[in-house]
Amino acid sequence: MKEEMSPAIARPALEESRPGPAKPVGNGALPVVLSLDIEEHYRIEAAAGLDVPPSLQVVYRRRMARTTDWLLEKLASRNIRATFFILGQIAKGDPGLIRAIAGAGHEVASHGWDHRRILTMDRPQFVEDIRRSKDALEQASGTPVLGYRAPTFSIVRRTAWAIDVLAEAGFLYDSSIYPVHHDRYGVPDAPRHPFQVRGVEREILEIPPATLGLGRLNVPIGGGGYFRLLPYPLTWLALAFSRRDRQCIGSMLYFHPWEFDPDQPALPLRGLSRFRTYVGIRRGQRRLASLMADFSFVRGIDLARRLIERSEGLPAFCLTS
Ligand SMILES: [Zn+2]
Repeated sequence: MKEEMSPAIARPALEESRPGPAKPVGNGALPVVLSLDIEEHYRIEAAAGLDVPPSLQVVYRRRMARTTDWLLEKLASRNIRATFFILGQIAKGDPGLIRAIAGAGHEVASHGWDHRRILTMDRPQFVEDIRRSKDALEQASGTPVLGYRAPTFSIVRRTAWAIDVLAEAGFLYDSSIYPVHHDRYGVPDAPRHPFQVRGVEREILEIPPATLGLGRLNVPIGGGGYFRLLPYPLTWLALAFSRRDRQCIGSMLYFHPWEFDPDQPALPLRGLSRFRTYVGIRRGQRRLASLMADFSFVRGIDLARRLIERSEGLPAFCLTS
């Protein structure tokens, strides 16, 4: 993919990182997972109704690969190992990218086959979706794929059966249940910290994206538009507070390559969708640099193994009750 890059597509330059707060959290006991959802920009839910021409899809694909290379460099420079939730279709089309990710010691995990939300599938279709994704990722990386994140956090009460499918397919953990109110996803009453989630008949470990608990309100600070919109100190404080919270045994952050590529062609989105997608996108690189400097990180699979060893201490939550 690298050889095919158009010279017009510039590698994003890392913005200067301003001095962040002191790093009392950095080497503390709280494991923080830095995760990246690897998908082309046009796959986002806000663009679901858009007709993106194949030539523009190719541009986004190249930019995604290029920005993922850039992320790999940044992670290596900080000696950080991350979790990459990747589409199976990308593994099939660009196995070299998956080998580069796995070869650098990062975790290769599944983000489904082609970014279809589980809400649009029935159970047999979802079984096939994750089978294809897992196979393609395992073949490309040569490592077992044990973590899963649903496109657009689409494990909700209505798709509780997906938990059973993941457990039966041999996944060790899931990171798809966002305990917030949102028009597209969310299980607002789910626990904010890692828990054992029950679907219909089976259970799996859930590592939810990070939130800041303010009374009865869960503020989503784990990544995406929220991370770019809200002031960085709020993310920092949320992670620092989590460390003091005795129920908290690990936090999960999530980002996408396109969030660090401010000069990409913008999708023709309108209104709220446009705002959510592009708010603060020029701050993305600088904020990531601050996070990398202020915290230390583990991979999702490392946190999962640690939690499974002590599973009797995890809260339980049933999606069907
Ligand atoms: Zn996604």
